[in-house]
Amino acid sequence: MKFNLTNIAFYLSIGFFLSCNATQNNKQEEIQIPIVNHSFGNSHEVLPQSLHLDLNADFEKQIIQGFAEWDIKPNELAKQVIFDTKELKIEKVSVDGEEVEFKKGKELEIFGAPLLIPIDKNTKKVRIYYETSPHAEALQWLSKEQTGGKPLLFSQSQAILARTWVPCMDMPSLRFTYTAKISCPNDLLPLMSATNPKTKSLNSVYEFEMQQPIPSYLLALTIGDYEFKELGTNCGVYATPGKLQEAANEFVDLPKMIQAAEKLYGPYQWGRYDIVVMPAAFPFGGMENPRLTFATPTIVTGDKSLVSLIAHELAHSWSGNLVTNHTWSDFWLNEGFTVYFEDRIMEEIYGRDYADMMAKLSFGDLQNTVVKMMQTPKENDTKLFLNLENRNPDDGVSDIAYEKGRFFLLLIEKTVGRERFDAFLKSYFQKYAFKTITTEEFKSYLYDNLFQNPAEVVPLEINNWIYETGLPSNCPIILSVELLKLDSLITKIKEGYKITKEETKDWTTHHYLYFIRNINKQSTSIQEIDSVFGFSQWKNAEILCEWYKWCIEANYEKSKPYIKTYLANVGRRKFVLPLFEKMTENTNKNWKIFAKDIFKEIGKSYHSVTYQSVTKVLENGNS
Ligand SMILES: [Zn+2]
Repeated sequence: MKFNLTNIAFYLSIGFFLSCNATQNNKQEEIQIPIVNHSFGNSHEVLPQSLHLDLNADFEKQIIQGFAEWDIKPNELAKQVIFDTKELKIEKVSVDGEEVEFKKGKELEIFGAPLLIPIDKNTKKVRIYYETSPHAEALQWLSKEQTGGKPLLFSQSQAILARTWVPCMDMPSLRFTYTAKISCPNDLLPLMSATNPKTKSLNSVYEFEMQQPIPSYLLALTIGDYEFKELGTNCGVYATPGKLQEAANEFVDLPKMIQAAEKLYGPYQWGRYDIVVMPAAFPFGGMENPRLTFATPTIVTGDKSLVSLIAHELAHSWSGNLVTNHTWSDFWLNEGFTVYFEDRIMEEIYGRDYADMMAKLSFGDLQNTVVKMMQTPKENDTKLFLNLENRNPDDGVSDIAYEKGRFFLLLIEKTVGRERFDAFLKSYFQKYAFKTITTEEFKSYLYDNLFQNPAEVVPLEINNWIYETGLPSNCPIILSVELLKLDSLITKIKEGYKITKEETKDWTTHHYLYFIRNINKQSTSIQEIDSVFGFSQWKNAEILCEWYKWCIEANYEKSKPYIKTYLANVGRRKFVLPLFEKMTENTNKNWKIFAKDIFKEIGKSYHSVTYQSVTKVLENGNS
């Protein structure tokens, strides 16, 4: 494994407490531990190769307890192995079967605490007995009142939250295989990013195995009242009762998607591909946990118009899971490639017009993001290669890695032609399969394997795209036939034309999003549009988010109770955050007060990822 200390290394002087498990006496000492790639892990001395978890999920106490056992490979000089932990209660540690004294550092806000375990060059196994905190940031425990059924637990390890439920070297540059034994209440079914059961067992103990090496951020667990339905020979869907059939209907094209993806960039390497439909509190659209994508229920709309999210998570089986960003600063290598690939899968199945419509909408989002970020201290985060030193990698996440990354790759495709670019991508996924890659390594591979002469390279302005802020002027322009039709309708409405619901009956979610975003908000009355469509009564979370943004901008008081209900029922950060931002930015102070009141009442029901982002928005708002 390559290990690069430049750029991202920094050293912290931390006060440590010597935790002697024999006497439990506390003795403070000063040690310097480098934090590299957002981890205390000393993988340059010790390679953790495989993990076995033996865990019990206690829903009453909202904790996971048990042990993690690592098979390690130390180098000749290794004296200790250092794992990342965050708010883990370490009960005892054994090394090759013998209990040893360990040290745990002081908890740092972003990085947690290093766990130092003495070993030597011959050590094979390190077993850590531990318990998670009820506030473990990766885990969300939902009561039966919150699910409307049985209790549920899910994890979200990306970016650096795996350490809040498993002691590990929590960095994307390191891969390991794992097995697990999970016990849970007898009416629930646990699922992991591994081989999964399809039905509940009698003794409530389940075994899992992930044979392909993965980085820690892809460790995943969910436990709920799940049922399973097969969708194809190697794919299916898990959901809670009552939601299974509608999910199966929504994802019916999954076998076709897998086929399209394999046709483009080579065989799917993870065995099965299943989806588990999460509760609404899930903070993301989807999480590409290998073999088992975690997906928000907000994409189950009844008309398959948001299944591109599944194409996205499936594409991660190549870009991200197979070829992984070496550091979180290289995050665009995970996401930019995935959005490009997602788009290609959608084009294969639903045609070019549909894919163009989605790309055009995304381009609008990207432009807005860039304009907004360029006016703030976040300007530097409009670079593809992010500077995340001493920051939570999650703070650098925006449309940039996804959309600026995609448009950069699209520019390369348009420059060299699709055939050559596809052959290049196929070889890239093969060459770096089950490895990690830095931005500079990608650039070298690109120069060596794609371009034929400097005349092709120079106009691309590659360094400008990767290392400079903003959106380069050579960004490809997308034309969408479908959205051009909408443009003329929007112009007619501006000139006084009265739209009817009847003429929009064939619209997809994307048509409505474009319509709401682009309608002239000065000349069109929000009351009039509301009386035609009654959007607030709709169930489609994507359209509702767009609609409520306009309601807030227009000071549309009538929408307030609906906005509150929406924010109480949806935990996906993509929807929650923009509404809190809009309310905070509104010059009418009542919206800021309203936002704070709502958050006080319902904020605790959000996953930590959403909760922390909204907290920042409310704290930074100048109310
Ligand atoms: Zn993604």
